[in-house]
Amino acid sequence: MENTKNVVIVGAGLVGSLNACNLAKRGFHVKVYERRPDIRTQQHVKGRSINLALSCRGREALKMVGLEETVVRNGIPMRARMIHDLDGKRHPIPYGEKDQYIMSVDRRNLNELLLNAAEKHDNIEFVFEHKLVRCNFESGQAEFEGPDKSIVTETADLFIGCDGAFSSLRNLMMRATRLNYQQEYIPHGYIELTIQPTNNEFAMEVNYLHIWPRNEYMMIALPNQDKTYTTTLFMPFKVFESLQTEDDIIKFFKENYPDAVPLLGEGHIKQTLITTKAQSLISVKCYPYHIGSNWLIMGDAAHAMVPFYGQGMNAGFEDCIVLDELMNKYDLDFSQVLPAYTEKRHIDATAICDLAMYNYIEMRSAVNSKLFLLRKKMDNL
Ligand code: FAD
Repeated sequence: MENTKNVVIVGAGLVGSLNACNLAKRGFHVKVYERRPDIRTQQHVKGRSINLALSCRGREALKMVGLEETVVRNGIPMRARMIHDLDGKRHPIPYGEKDQYIMSVDRRNLNELLLNAAEKHDNIEFVFEHKLVRCNFESGQAEFEGPDKSIVTETADLFIGCDGAFSSLRNLMMRATRLNYQQEYIPHGYIELTIQPTNNEFAMEVNYLHIWPRNEYMMIALPNQDKTYTTTLFMPFKVFESLQTEDDIIKFFKENYPDAVPLLGEGHIKQTLITTKAQSLISVKCYPYHIGSNWLIMGDAAHAMVPFYGQGMNAGFEDCIVLDELMNKYDLDFSQVLPAYTEKRHIDATAICDLAMYNYIEMRSAVNSKLFLLRKKMDNL
């Protein structure tokens, strides 16, 4: 399929690179500008969570670009949550029926896979180390700044901001149109730790998303292919800040996560909490997602959410499915596709942001939840 329209995507993260594959399939000339260097050339990539829970929504979108099988093959199924009680007892809470599960996937691998897939299209071009700095919404032009501060000006039929929770395109759109915007930082931050394999095997039951719910705090662990677990500690910044010394840290872990201490190792816990700054968590809602027929934001740029529902990336991938359906419905007429996209997507995106916020409380207090109490009652029958 060939067509003469040019699309510029801002951001080669998860949503930007998947979107690029999808749009290239339609024959658009796609150019992707990314602020960071190409992650495939980097030894360490700064950023958020190391692994992610991939669910149905995300898989459907990966299927569209022919990558579902590969991603699933490289992921680890998680069939249930495994709740770790304070006294060390563990009990599973399934996600659904026996054959239902979510996948733990490596963020970097997934992003690299998507970049490699995109690069196979002759009609996709990547420009790394260039960040969006200015837009002219009337003339349909955007300016990108390179590492030497030189400016590249792009003209396109459609600009799509897939540039994350702190989106530059969204910020620029807010100054150009009546775009409603709402953001909320929650009092909790997070730090990631690692549980190493024991005797070259997973140190805990593998096909689970492990949760240590402690009401005000919570820790979770997702399995990786290399038999480690990425373990994320969520708690209020004021609690992170109160842990000033190595003794404070270990005392806190022994009181709240006693069974995890030998798995993580005291040295690793101390070193990580002393040297790492907790990262913040933000929820973003806005409306509309477009200006006219040339400018659109998708993924976290339009709807960043707290990670407690494991749906940020999945919802961003689903955005690509919705855009694709509307491209079909309106025969690539952007003046119809973009407003229809905003209307269709806004309701669902707002709902998932709210559900994620709700699960922020549900997950860390799962021990007191109705589900848990019901399970306890049944155990006693
Ligand atoms: P990003 O991944 O943020 O990518 C944006 C890209 O745009 C980046 O590459 C950035 O460098 C680039 N960029 C930014 N500004 C510019 C600019 N001015 N010019 C050019 N490029 C720019 N989601 C799930 O579905 N499941 C999970 O289990 C899950 N767990 C999470 C755990 C944590 C701790 C966190 C914080 C998030 C989690 N998420 C999860 C959410 C998920 O990480 C995001 O929803 C997802 O990364 C959004 O993808 P994106 O492509 O929209 O944005």
